[in-house]
Order: sequence, then structure tokens, then C-alpha cells
Amino acid sequence: MPFAGVDFLQLDELLTEEERLVRDTFRRFVDDEILPVIGRHFREGTFDASWPRKLGSLGALGASLTGYGCAGLGPVAYGLIMQELERGDSGVRSFASVQGALVMYPIHSFGSEEQKQRWLPKMAAGEAIGCFGLTEPDFGSNPGGMRTTARRVGDTYVLNGEKRWITNGGLSDVAVVWAKTDEDGAGQGGAKSVRGFLVERGTPGFSTRDIHGKFSLRASVTSELIFEDCVVPASAMLPGVQGLRGPLSCLNQARFGISFGAIGAAMACYDEALRYTKDRKQFSRPLAGHQLVQAKLVDMLEEISKAQLLSLHLGRLKVAGTLRPAQISMAKRNNVRMALHIARNARDLLGANGITDEYQAGRHMCNLESVFTYEGTDHIHTLVIGEDITGIPAFD
Ligand SMILES: Cc1cc2nc3c(=O)[nH]c(=O)nc-3n(C[C@H](O)[C@H](O)[C@H](O)COP(=O)(O)OP(=O)(O)OC[C@H]3O[C@@H](n4cnc5c(N)ncnc54)[C@H](O)[C@@H]3O)c2cc1C
Repeated sequence: MPFAGVDFLQLDELLTEEERLVRDTFRRFVDDEILPVIGRHFREGTFDASWPRKLGSLGALGASLTGYGCAGLGPVAYGLIMQELERGDSGVRSFASVQGALVMYPIHSFGSEEQKQRWLPKMAAGEAIGCFGLTEPDFGSNPGGMRTTARRVGDTYVLNGEKRWITNGGLSDVAVVWAKTDEDGAGQGGAKSVRGFLVERGTPGFSTRDIHGKFSLRASVTSELIFEDCVVPASAMLPGVQGLRGPLSCLNQARFGISFGAIGAAMACYDEALRYTKDRKQFSRPLAGHQLVQAKLVDMLEEISKAQLLSLHLGRLKVAGTLRPAQISMAKRNNVRMALHIARNARDLLGANGITDEYQAGRHMCNLESVFTYEGTDHIHTLVIGEDITGIPAFD
């Protein structure tokens, strides 16, 4: 049965025709192409190699960027794509988020014309895949401490170091890698010396190793990137940005999309719980006829509705150019918490059936644990908002 959406507050009326059309296109895509196979991919820990080109052909990759084969959609339409993809699976949405917001966005915003021409059209079409290497084994919430270095030698840079937990790493044709340079005036290895580099698969000294045994995001590839005296031409550096502002501005784009994505996962869980509890009888009546069950369903709907309003409003602020990073932190923090809570409650309402992969809630619940941690943990977003309201930074 096609997914009908969750729209208690008639928010559809606030969307433009284009936004509804885009949303409905991806809603059908998820119903037809993702849901029939996602259970198998999650169980087997595989990413479907056909997804990148399919997503590319529908305009999902770098959807809010303009030119170079990108769809040039507004932020709300982009967010609604993320919502629908994550209704299918957070791993599919993660693929699109990384490709668009963390790889295409920095190339588009900070890359040379040559870098843009080389990568953006192929990435928009899903013919080339990218990854974003910021996190290291010893530096997650504190990326400024990174140890990966890029030493200038003549017309080249020599990269050494290791990145970990990198989505799409093992699939990628190109990695956006953040490393500290040693050049004068760049802060001599401090956070200000961070620069972005485009490192192509096959470059000597660059290898990847996939991480296995994940409970979460099993239909997504997560890898280590290893750089051992990896020599790239000086032209591989992203010329337009220096310091942590580079990676953090990418993360803001991705977090905005994640706030919508989490709503999709929550909708899937709520919808499943509603249908299940209306169907299954205990104590001679449908589960949905018991007061405590209704209270849980109402809580879910209420939280989804509030999250929808929050993300839609942020989308409109983004169009107006007034959206602030701390506001994105609030949406990421609230909506991912909300989705995780709903996934757990949906799993509960499904009883024992909820622990099998015949149903979606358990898969979403496990996936959302990663979403809670990546793109800034729940704690870090709390501290970002805390600093915004008090003026006192509680972390560096
Ligand atoms: C599936 C998956 C995919 C990922 N994809 C990517 C990717 O594509 N590219 C990339 O660069 N990274 C990626 N990451 C990494 C992710 O961004 C990091 O895991 C995240 O930033 C947290 O870092 P950490 O895991 O080292 O945890 P830590 O930073 O060690 O944090 C552990 C705990 O300590 C808390 N903590 C840390 N510092 C503070 C503080 N100052 N105050 C209070 N609490 C604190 C955290 O909130 C958390 O609860 C991915 C992670 C996962 C799980």
C-alpha cells in the first residue's frame, strides 16, 4: 500500500506545488525501489549498487545546488527528499546527504572551476561517488585536534594520517579529506591550518578499509581512509576555504537535511505502529483501543507534527538567508531525539514482532542510534545551543 504521509496539521498547504511534487516523486521511489529490498540489504549488510544512479536520475544528489547538472531545488524540497529517503532507511539518506551536502557542496562552494567541472556533473548523476573524511580514530567531537597532515613539497602535498567512520568510504571515487597543512601563515598545524583536499581512488598511498559488525546503518558503507605518504598535486586542494569553517559549513548543510530525514524515519515507525495496533487484538479489542496505546500513538503524532513545523520553518529561514547554525543544531537535536523515541515506542507497540526485520521499527531504531551520534552528537548540539543562549562556550 503506498505511503499516505503524516499531516495532522495540514502542513501540505504550506508547501509549494513543486515541493509537493518532489516529495511525492521520492515517496513513490521509496515505496517501489527501497522498501521491497531494504530488509535484505540491512540483514546482509550491503549497499545496493543501483541506488546512486537511480537517485541521480531523479535529481536527489546535490539537489539544492545550481548548475553542473544539479537540480537547483529550494531547501524545503531538498529537505523533503531527505525525509522520504530516510522513511526508507537512514543508510540511503546518509548516502545522499554525504554525496550532496558533504562532498558536492564543498566542491561547489570552495572548489576551483576545474574541480567543479571534473566532479559535479558525474556526482549529480550518481556516476561518481564521494566521501567526506573529517573524523579520526582519536578525534570525533573535537575535529580541531585532527592528526592528519598535508605537507607541501614543491607542487604537491604529501598526506599522512587516518580517517575513521567515513560513510561511502569504500565506494568512493573521490574523498574530500580535511588535513592540517604546515605552510607559513596558516597557523602552523593548528585548527586554522585545516584545508580540504580531493583525493582520488587509486592515488598511491591512499587505501580504504570497510568497518564491519555494525548494529546500525547496515545498508550503508562505513570505512576507514588511510593515507601513507599519499602524494596529491597542489591543485587537489580546495582553494576557497581555510580552517575548520570549511568542514563545519558542510556539516551545517547536512544537519539541515538530517532534521528532515529524522522525520521520515519517525513517520515510518508511527505509520507502522498505527496500522499494527489497529489490526492486532488483545483482551478482545484492537491494541489501538486501549487507552495507554492511544496515548503513545498521540505522543508520536504530536512530536512528528512539531518537528515538521520546526524543519519547515528552518527551510523558510534558509531561503531568506537568516538561518543560523544554532537553529540547525536545535532541529537536528530535537528531531533525532524525537525519531529515536518514536522508533523505540513503535518497537514496543509491535511486541515481539517488533524485534524482527519483518517490521521496520527495529531497523529504524538501530539506524537512529548512528544519526544521534554523527553530524554532531546530541551533547555537542546541546552545547552549541547552550553557548548561543548564554554566550559562554562550554567546549572549545
Ligand atoms: C555510521 C556512522 C557514519 C559516519 N560517517 C561519517 C562521515 O562520513 N565522515 C566523518 O568525518 N565522520 C563520520 N562519522 C563520525 C561521527 O561524526 C562521529 O562518530 C561523531 O562526531 C562523534 O565522534 P566519536 O564517535 O569519536 O565520539 P566522541 O567524540 O568520543 O564522543 C563520545 C561521547 O562523548 C560525548 N562528548 C564528547 N565531547 C564532549 C563534550 N565536550 N561535552 C560533553 N560530551 C562530550 C559525546 O557527545 C558522546 O556522547 C560517522 C559515524 C557513524 C557512527
